[in-house]
Amino acid sequence: MLTVEQALEHILSRVAPLGVERVLLLDAASRILAEPVVSTRTLPPHDNSAMDGYAVFAADIAAASRERPVILPIGLRVGAGHLPSRPLSPGEAARVMTGAAVPDGADAVVKREDTDEGDAGAPAASGGKVGFFVPANPGAHIRRRGDDIAEGAEVLRVGDAIGPAEIGLCAGLGRAVLTVRRRPTVAILSTGDELCDVDQVPAPGQIVNSNVWALAAQVAEAGGLPVVLGHARDDAGAIRARIREGLAADVLLTSGGVSVGDFDLVRGALEAEGVGLEFWKVAMKPGKPVTFGRGPGGRLVFGLPGNPASSMVAFELFVRPALRGLMGDLRPRPRVTVMLEDGFERGGGRVQFLRAVVRIVRKPGQGDRWIAHLLRSQDSHKLSSMARSNALVELPADSGRVVPGEAVTAILTGVPVQADA
Ligand code: AMP
Ligand code: MG
Repeated sequence: MLTVEQALEHILSRVAPLGVERVLLLDAASRILAEPVVSTRTLPPHDNSAMDGYAVFAADIAAASRERPVILPIGLRVGAGHLPSRPLSPGEAARVMTGAAVPDGADAVVKREDTDEGDAGAPAASGGKVGFFVPANPGAHIRRRGDDIAEGAEVLRVGDAIGPAEIGLCAGLGRAVLTVRRRPTVAILSTGDELCDVDQVPAPGQIVNSNVWALAAQVAEAGGLPVVLGHARDDAGAIRARIREGLAADVLLTSGGVSVGDFDLVRGALEAEGVGLEFWKVAMKPGKPVTFGRGPGGRLVFGLPGNPASSMVAFELFVRPALRGLMGDLRPRPRVTVMLEDGFERGGGRVQFLRAVVRIVRKPGQGDRWIAHLLRSQDSHKLSSMARSNALVELPADSGRVVPGEAVTAILTGVPVQADA
């Protein structure tokens, strides 16, 4: 049986990034850039003030102090979005707002708080005088043209992940369209005679097909485009027909019907539809029967176990990295060392993934401690504990008990909780 690492390595070796597409800025969010962004502009476009205050020749106020303010006439007034009507002359000051272009000649800005403006209630309009309480170093509070981004600079590289700041950066440069990797379409099919749809009341013996929705949400969270195929009965012909439909997508996920029961027909149906199976068991708990193969055109096909927690864990470990890989992102989920708060009796033989809540406990003077609370229900049919978890704690394949205080590895599937001790 393959180990989790071997299975993941096998899958990733079959992942070739999808093609690229040009999309509007917001649609690039959470995707991977496929062409560099080269600036065609200079930012800031002009020298501008970092403060509301006065632009001056620094030499004019070199002797300024609170006791002996230097008084200058206000010759100009510049708001953000407006250009100075003329250069500044020595011996005068320009009232400037944050972001306003600094007039030519001026080499420093003094913030309002360092002038008498407040005390004197100096007029805001041009005319009047202003007293300076402090000298200024040349260059003070002036944001120089080009000090953020030079024209021709590569501001984002191929492979960069696009988040809100990258989108803002591109917008600031007037880039409304980006070239990114395509999102994979992911068809999701459940199997089982016991299943009914979420909007139906289960008949005796039935349960709602929850996997298809949990998996669709996992697909969306990973950046893929879920195509919900619903469920097929445990009938080879019915399953094959839906698999044929699903093979139109970039990736096909099935859930259920891959273990050793009398009605576990999925593997046979996949093969009958031309999917070459490459492995069908991984040494892990939960999720052992996870199956992987490739369909026509090298499409990735995952046969996930039917138990709800097993299918979600198998998705997390194998499908998510594959989907991110198709989108050009090879960064794995963060793994951290955490201290167990609870003990746990291991079955042994297989690496185990336990649903946990990881919290960062901050104790004054002691730094942060990462603590994992193991949720009580670890049975693979229970989603209640999956719902509360933000991490999977990985216990190596040894048997025996792990005890509170032991250091283990956790895969962060959500945001850790911040807590004070
Ligand atoms: P199977 O892998 O088909 O043997 O299913 C294992 C367990 O998971 C059984 O208890 C099934 O009823 C349950 N199960 C299978 N598919 C689903 C599904 N789509 N939604 C919820 N539970 C499921
Ligand atoms: Mg079944």
